[in-house]
Amino acid sequence: MRIFASVFVGLVCLSILILHISFAWNVRIKDLDDAQISTANLSRALAEHAQATLISADSVLFGMVQRLEVEGMDRDSLARLYPLLASYVKELPQIQGLFVYDESGKWMVNSMDDSPWMLNNADREYFIYHMTHEDRAPHVGEPVKSRSSGDWIIPLSRRINHPDGSFAGVVLATVEVEYFLKFYRSFDIGKHGEILLATQPGILLAKWPSSGEIFGQNISNSNIVSEHASRNKNGIAIITAADGVKRLHSYKRLDRYPLFVTAALSYDEVLASWRTETLMQSVGVLILVAMLAWMGKRLVNQIKLRAQAQQKLLSAREKLVEMNKTLQKMALEDGLTGVANRRQFDVTLANEFNRAKRERQSLGLLMIDVDHFKKYNDTYGHPAGDVCLQKIGKLIKMNRPGDLSARYGGEEFAILLPNTDLKGAISVAEKICADVRALNIPHGKNPTGIVTVSVGAQATVPTKTCNLLDLVSAADKALYTAKARGRNQVCSADDDIPAACL
Ligand code: GH3
Ligand code: MG
Ligand code: MG
Repeated sequence: MRIFASVFVGLVCLSILILHISFAWNVRIKDLDDAQISTANLSRALAEHAQATLISADSVLFGMVQRLEVEGMDRDSLARLYPLLASYVKELPQIQGLFVYDESGKWMVNSMDDSPWMLNNADREYFIYHMTHEDRAPHVGEPVKSRSSGDWIIPLSRRINHPDGSFAGVVLATVEVEYFLKFYRSFDIGKHGEILLATQPGILLAKWPSSGEIFGQNISNSNIVSEHASRNKNGIAIITAADGVKRLHSYKRLDRYPLFVTAALSYDEVLASWRTETLMQSVGVLILVAMLAWMGKRLVNQIKLRAQAQQKLLSAREKLVEMNKTLQKMALEDGLTGVANRRQFDVTLANEFNRAKRERQSLGLLMIDVDHFKKYNDTYGHPAGDVCLQKIGKLIKMNRPGDLSARYGGEEFAILLPNTDLKGAISVAEKICADVRALNIPHGKNPTGIVTVSVGAQATVPTKTCNLLDLVSAADKALYTAKARGRNQVCSADDDIPAACL
């Protein structure tokens, strides 16, 4: 029971812990899944935004190229172009400025000024790119600090051709990095989240949060570019950055431009609320388990104590039963000879007498007295007298089952013989007399030289009016007759039995 209770309590505690851990683990997995979904959605939204921004600027550039190639770049046509550029910039917030450079890099017109002749951009990356590449596709250049405004800008440019296909110059739309940052700032990405926009080779265009002059940096060696964004169109990556922050990144390439965006959330921040909740729940669960274990221990102890008490009770009961037996024996047996005592004899005699009366059966009674026993004691001493009585007691004890041998008093014994008539009683008495003689216990003061007994035998079928004392006194009388006739013999008091008992 104790082992069962201990195992049961242990299993309950273990089950609660396992359930709690598996529940907490599932919540963690779900939180991470949710974070993955939100970063994936965010990166898709960022890619759409970047693409829409560039498409709108590029469509303006495409129109400008068409016009300049048809109308040429003389002073008049540039002067006509200027208000158009100014109105584009006014209408489209994503465009910071529009610029036209001739084949030598000289500023021809821009959205702020119709005659900015003094500046030259032949050294810019995008200018060199178009001068050296004949393709007509738009080109996203490396971010630069604007010579006109001092702001960080992302250049989007297209090549202008002469009618013969030779290089005629470049049209440029500039998008402020701040335009992207403003959009990125509107998202809640936590303290250590990160959003960035970069070219496919890994030139950083915009990044939030950002500090210092980081735009234009080459990040092609970073894990997110080299292992992920440069290999796949989109995906999820868990990366621990150089700043030691582990982040869950979702990246996506733009469909129409060689750019990609990534949105990242800090792993710790994603799991922060999970950690707090799990910690609180764990404390609760541990308290519950500790209480259960404590109660279980008390229960086990109670069971142990109960078992011990039960064991004590059992052994006490056994002792009691044993003592009862002894008491019973003491109450019913004669201590010296081991035969029934007087009390048992009286009760049995009454029962047997009534039974014999009911069943109309004969009840026999022998009264036995040791001859000259006083002299025996006087001669051999009281202890020897006791031993002699024990021997005679042992002898008369060996009779039929149902018979009762008892010490009637002193050196007198009585034997109750149910279902026995006088003849039977006399024969039992004769046998006892002979058996005592056969013991051959020396008795110098007895004329026979050995210990002998005298027996008075009586048997009767009791009638309604017959009293059991009549039977006893008849047997007693017979015993006196035997004594009177010289001892060492059996006598019956047949003739002396009251008429009522016959
Ligand atoms: P009788 O042949 O007429 O019976 O003579 P008796 O000496 O046996 O008769 P009496 O009844 O006068 O003596 C009985 C003696 O039995 C007296 C007593 O000392 C002795 N006696 C009675 N009970 C015990 C006993 O428990 N132990 C011993 N050793 N002697 C006992
Ligand atoms: Mg006597
Ligand atoms: Mg005697």
